[in-house]
Amino acid sequence: MSSLEILQAVPAAFIGLCLFLGLMVGSFLNVVIHRLPKMMESGWKRQCAELHGDEPAPHTAYNLISPRSACPHCNHAIGALENIPIISYLLLRGKCKGCGAAISPRYPIIEATSGILCAYAAWHFGFGIAAAGALLLVWALLALTAIDFDTQLLPDDITLPLLWLGLLLNTFGVFTSLNSAVLGAMFGYLALWGVYWLFKLATGKEGMGYGDFKLLAALGAWMGWQMLPLIIMLSSMVGAVVGITLIVAAKHGRSVPIPFGPYLAGGGLIALFWGKTLTQGYLQLLAAP
Ligand SMILES: [Zn+2]
Repeated sequence: MSSLEILQAVPAAFIGLCLFLGLMVGSFLNVVIHRLPKMMESGWKRQCAELHGDEPAPHTAYNLISPRSACPHCNHAIGALENIPIISYLLLRGKCKGCGAAISPRYPIIEATSGILCAYAAWHFGFGIAAAGALLLVWALLALTAIDFDTQLLPDDITLPLLWLGLLLNTFGVFTSLNSAVLGAMFGYLALWGVYWLFKLATGKEGMGYGDFKLLAALGAWMGWQMLPLIIMLSSMVGAVVGITLIVAAKHGRSVPIPFGPYLAGGGLIALFWGKTLTQGYLQLLAAP
């Protein structure tokens, strides 16, 4: 049997492979989450300098690959053995080998979440292109969630390729028909764009960012327009619960913007895995006399 045939015939092998992939890519997602916003900021600074005719700052290589990961406290270079997802964090007891500074538990949490979601996607979809697509979607949504949480930004570098990829997959009808995917992308964007302008006209404030429109457009491209009401409903429900909790706990002023991206991403993931079951459920409820 070839290795592809084994993955096809033995579900446990495929789930195990996706778990492993999820953990490894989760570790890389931590780099993306940390560096992509900084790369965007330095790009904007360079553009501003150019626009003002100033001498741009000297160019230092800072991207997703270079320089190597180092402890932010003591600059201790992180070796391969200290970079094993979750295991290294446990072996190091959450402390830097060089200076003993605490390592944020967020690193192993992102790795574990990525691993578990990828294993679940493998089990849910089984060996095939849908599972591969689901893995990519999980990774993009995890990165977007953490970046939006930190910086209130949803980088175009992630949302736009995600939209194109959704359309491409559905050219082959992987998650929905191409027709429904194109309408999903369009209505996804317009739905939040409409909410944004209504809110702005009514209150004079900006309640959302353009990144949110693009993210919902991408989710529409992946799952089709039929899933949009469910995604909006789920993300508003989670958003309202978390938002009210934060306001009641008085950690957040009512005017402090709460990023909407993480809730959209969460709603999108729920729709990816259970969307069809949930929509059938509520359509039956509506149809009941
Ligand atoms: Zn250190």
